[in-house]
Amino acid sequence: MTEVFDGIVVGGGIVGCACAYYLSERFPKVLLIEKGPVGGGSTAAGMGHVVVMDDSRAQFALTQYSQQLWNELFPQLEPSCEPRSTGTLWVAADEEEFSHVDGKRKLYESNGLRAEVLDTKAIREAEPHLREGLPGGLLIPGDSVIYPMTAAAWLLDQARLRGAKLLQGRAVVKMGQGKTTLDDGTTLDAHFVVNATGDRAQTLTPGLPITPRKGHLIITDRYPGYVRHQLVELGYLKSAHEMSNESVAFNAQPRATGQILLGSSRQFVGWDPGIDRNLIAKMVARATEYLPGIGSLSVIRTWVGFRATTPNSLPLIGSLQHDPATLVAAGHEGLGITTSLATGKLIADIASGVESKIDRNPFAVSVEVKS
Ligand SMILES: Cc1cc2nc3c(=O)[nH]c(=O)nc-3n(C[C@H](O)[C@H](O)[C@H](O)COP(=O)(O)OP(=O)(O)OC[C@H]3O[C@@H](n4cnc5c(N)ncnc54)[C@H](O)[C@@H]3O)c2cc1C
Repeated sequence: MTEVFDGIVVGGGIVGCACAYYLSERFPKVLLIEKGPVGGGSTAAGMGHVVVMDDSRAQFALTQYSQQLWNELFPQLEPSCEPRSTGTLWVAADEEEFSHVDGKRKLYESNGLRAEVLDTKAIREAEPHLREGLPGGLLIPGDSVIYPMTAAAWLLDQARLRGAKLLQGRAVVKMGQGKTTLDDGTTLDAHFVVNATGDRAQTLTPGLPITPRKGHLIITDRYPGYVRHQLVELGYLKSAHEMSNESVAFNAQPRATGQILLGSSRQFVGWDPGIDRNLIAKMVARATEYLPGIGSLSVIRTWVGFRATTPNSLPLIGSLQHDPATLVAAGHEGLGITTSLATGKLIADIASGVESKIDRNPFAVSVEVKS
């Protein structure tokens, strides 16, 4: 008799691994299928900033819930996952931006999060390499940083210790109605299947509103202590929101190695994997406006990755109306490292038919079914 799995997760990025992690707590027979290296897609390209974001009420709820879940896991993560409580320092470029800082503080505090307004003197004390004369910023001490690829592998390892299986090196060519077909023609059966293939999710579930959005990152040599917090310009959300062809925002992260990871860019250029040197120059110029000395540091590598963008900037987490045995966990744009754990929890809740701690409705999946 052929084996019937409780659930099959397609895609071993951080989102698929988080789904396997929480599904394996509730179901004995979980299989994850990954065609390449675990965590080798957008997960390998991401920055690893675990951050509560306030672009919308739903985004705030999902990121805050996920951060709580990361905080629960932090003591158990292996050192290779590099969990670090860096906090986020939102930096105001001018007085106009600084005038919004107190409103942001109130929002975070009213949701139970610590937030501290730093004036021009305090922000330089917190980050001595920032430009002199910046008006200040907002420190969110609860945010953190992880190394995404090893964190994804760790989540999957834990799922496997609970009995989940991994099928690696095979691509899924078709999924739906509880059936998953592999590229060698094998068909596997399950009570439910989860499409966690990130920016490629519409290949297996046609009609999903996902568009790839390219991002470049730059990593420097080791300069321990040069940057102490994850530094983000207050205008970052404007850049993330702009659906223009190209945008750049200042974002700098201290890595556990002492390296500085510098972002970020956003481009709608399809799947073009090339490095755009002009854009790299714009990113460095933007960073120099905040960290005037950054241009003198050695860069050792640049790379690109693709964010899975949706029209309302929220991930798609839920079942298909016309095929309830197919669940989708994709479209996490620039927040999938942060929101992977909450996504995994929500998927496990849906699969086991229980309420979730946060409202799932904003993430409901709708696809255009072509007859
Ligand atoms: C430049 C950049 C910076 C970022 N910074 C951050 C950050 O600081 N914080 C944050 O929270 N997020 C960040 N992100 C976003 C984050 O990286 C993504 O949202 C997240 O990695 C998405 O994970 P995923 O598992 O959905 O997708 P992926 O990691 O792409 O995983 C999907 C997997 O599915 C597999 N797959 C695809 N098709 C098939 C198939 N047919 N059969 C089998 N397997 C298949 C792929 O091989 C891949 O491994 C950033 C992204 C970029 C590009």
